Amino acid sequence: MDSHDDLKSGVARLEAMIVAASSVLPFTGAGLSTECGIPDFRSPGGLWTQNKPIAFDVFLADATMRNEAWRRRFAMQEVFDGARPGRGHVALARLVRTGRAPAIITQNIDNLHQDSGVDGERIIEIHGNTTYATCLSCGLRHDLDWIRPRFVAEGEAPPCRDCGGILKTATISFGQPMPAEAMRRAVALARSCDLFIAIGSSLVVYPAAGLPALAKENGARLVIINREPTPFDSAADLVLRGDIGDILEQLK
Ligand code: NAD
Repeated sequence: MDSHDDLKSGVARLEAMIVAASSVLPFTGAGLSTECGIPDFRSPGGLWTQNKPIAFDVFLADATMRNEAWRRRFAMQEVFDGARPGRGHVALARLVRTGRAPAIITQNIDNLHQDSGVDGERIIEIHGNTTYATCLSCGLRHDLDWIRPRFVAEGEAPPCRDCGGILKTATISFGQPMPAEAMRRAVALARSCDLFIAIGSSLVVYPAAGLPALAKENGARLVIINREPTPFDSAADLVLRGDIGDILEQLK
C-alpha cells in the first residue's frame, strides 16, 4: 500500500471479506512477533543473518552443534521471556473468540498465541514451540528451567531425566519430520476455509508455504499481510503491504 488512504481502504476490504466468510483461517509467521521484540529470520538483522540454522541431522550427529544450539537458545531466553502478545496477536485472538476463525495455524515457536488467550486446541503449531523441550527418544516434556542450570554447570544439555535420550527444544529444525497431526489439521483447514490470511511470513519455507496455495486451489480467497513482497502476492485477492500491528489493530 502506498499511502494511508490505500491502507485504510485495504483494511476495509479485508473487513468485508471477513464478514462474508464462513471460515477464516489466519496463518502466521515471524513478522507477527517482531513488534514483541522477537526478530524474524529474513528481515535485515534477522536471526538468519546472524546464525545459520543447525539442521536436524547435524544436531543428532554432533554434540558440539547440540551445545551450540542450546547456547543460542539460552542467549535468546530474556527475549522470549520478556515478549508479550502484540496488536496482531490480540486482533487474531478476537477473531477466534467471535467464532469467525476455527483455529490459527502458526509457524511461530514463541507461544504468543497461547499468551494472547487463544485455547491451545485452536493453535496449530506446524514448527513446534521453543518454550519447552522434549526428549527425541521418548517424547517426555522438559522445562527449560530444569535444563538451563545444568547446561550452564556442565557446558552441555543434560540427557532426558527418564530414558537418557537427547533433549531438544520442541521445535522443528530443517530436515526434521513435520509434526504429522498438526500438518493433517492444517491441510484439512486450508482445504475447507473460505478466507486464508497469511500474516508476517516470507512464504518461502515449505511445506508451510504450500498452505496458501492449497487454500486458493480449493476455492478460498487469499489475503497476504506483509511489509515485503512474497512469492504468492500475484495469486492473492488482496495484498496489504504495511506494518502488521498497524493493520490488524484496525479490525473491529
Ligand atoms: P520470515 O522471517 O521468513 O519472514 C517474516 C516476514 O515478516 C518478512 O517477509 C518480513 O518482511 C515480515 N515482517 C517482519 N515484521 C513485520 C511487521 N511488523 N509488519 C509486517 N511485516 C513484517 O518468517 P517465516 O516466514 O515465519 O519463516 C521463518 C521460520 O522461522 C518460521 O518457520 C518460524 O518457525 C521461525 N521463526 C519463528 C519466530 C517466532 O516464533 N517469533 C521468529 C523467527 C523465526
